[in-house]
Amino acid sequence: MTDLYDTVAWGKSSKDSKFSQLKIQRNLPGADDVTFDLKYCGICHTDVHIANNDWGTTTFPVVPGHELAGVVSAIGTNVTKFKVGDQVGVGCIVDSCLKCRNCNDGVEHICSGKMTMTYDSKISHGHIKTNSGITYGGFSTSQTVNERFLIKIPAEYPLESAGPLFCSAITMYSPLCHWKAASGGLNVGVIGIGGLGQMGIMLAKAMGNKVTAISTSPAKQQDAMEIGADNFIVSTDEASMLSGADTLDLILNTVSANHQIEHYLPLLRRDGSIVQLGLVGKKHEIAQIPLMRKRIQISGSMIGGIPETQDCMDFCAKHKIFSKIKLVKASELDHVFSILEQKNDQVVRYVLDIEASK
Ligand SMILES: [Zn+2]
Ligand SMILES: [Zn+2]
Repeated sequence: MTDLYDTVAWGKSSKDSKFSQLKIQRNLPGADDVTFDLKYCGICHTDVHIANNDWGTTTFPVVPGHELAGVVSAIGTNVTKFKVGDQVGVGCIVDSCLKCRNCNDGVEHICSGKMTMTYDSKISHGHIKTNSGITYGGFSTSQTVNERFLIKIPAEYPLESAGPLFCSAITMYSPLCHWKAASGGLNVGVIGIGGLGQMGIMLAKAMGNKVTAISTSPAKQQDAMEIGADNFIVSTDEASMLSGADTLDLILNTVSANHQIEHYLPLLRRDGSIVQLGLVGKKHEIAQIPLMRKRIQISGSMIGGIPETQDCMDFCAKHKIFSKIKLVKASELDHVFSILEQKNDQVVRYVLDIEASK
């Protein structure tokens, strides 16, 4: 493995500390690696959970950020897909075994040897290195990864808007493709109109599907219709739910608060599928008869592999799909994290402006 170099990062040294500037080390590019100067990094709700050690799994100091966007500064001798000056990005994964059936099939996030997440993950496959043996995320000035985990951002796509695609867009794009909505013609429902849900509406619509937005909040109707929803259902309103009964082929459920999946099953048509995408800890209780009666499937999905993430990037560039973003500096991180702690369904995605933070 190659030598290490110093880079500036912003992170938390303990659960209760504030964000501060930290010095970390990453590996210099080996033959298959690309180093890039980070320009922007999206701020995801998962960052808040990990920075606060909500799941009891965080190793401190932690440098969050898994929506990285930057410009290539150095490449290894074997690298063919990227050159210095290219716009590139990294999402939630920075390493996997690259040998198993799932890695060979381009679904590295399902690696049988376990993928290495972009931050707060133990380094175990040897394609990436830091001074601590724990990965550090994109709230930093530079990153090095094996070219296999890098996404090319088309030159015409605004770099500041690209990061969020590698988390929220791929989370929605992958199930839309897997459940055959990519060529259009389906009736697709999206539950929850936060960051994921909005992306789901825009993607499903651009693919040529009819889209129904489903929310507990009638106030979300205007937002949802503006970005392409054809219908709107208030999930807490019995009449509204009845109006959508037996209409949907596919439901993408982004709700991350505890809920019962059964509530939404009547919306599905024969052979319909509901896909769970939010991180819900509590178990669901399901009666079997409704599943049997209409051959309904309940499934789950999480982010996507690298080739599909590249497809998602290219699709968003082609169809001019952007997240609504707001640039912030590192000095504002504590404030932004406290806003995200209050509510998970921000219409705007906060993006750390790295140049402005130096
Ligand atoms: Zn995320
Ligand atoms: Zn693998």
